[in-house]
Amino acid sequence: MNKDESEWKLTLSPEQFKVLRQCGTEPPFTGKYVHHKENGVYVCAGCGNELFSSNTKYESGSGWPSFWDQLSDDSVERKIDKSHGMTRIEIVCKKCGGHLGHVFDDGPNPTGLRYCINSLSLDFKKTEEDT
Ligand code: FE
Repeated sequence: MNKDESEWKLTLSPEQFKVLRQCGTEPPFTGKYVHHKENGVYVCAGCGNELFSSNTKYESGSGWPSFWDQLSDDSVERKIDKSHGMTRIEIVCKKCGGHLGHVFDDGPNPTGLRYCINSLSLDFKKTEEDT
């Protein structure tokens, strides 16, 4: 998927554009998915790529939605991020390259990973209940 930045500007909100396309970070505890607990799949707000399952979401206390695993090998890609005087591992959507957040190694078992993700980078698809 190769949209240019002016096209992204048309399809994303200004807040989403800042995070997804300009590596922004939403203020902690402000995102709509921080304490979200429904069953379903979190997808990329830019392209709809399936990123994280609610089964791997947990309360990290960081103020951002946190997951201990990605949904599949096609969900995300890692990049070295040396901004702000730190070396961190940035997480981007594997399909559209949109910035999602960072991954740290202080997460819970079984992976020990903490995917720290901006709510603004996510949409949520609720799993249909059995009726
Ligand atoms: Fe995407």
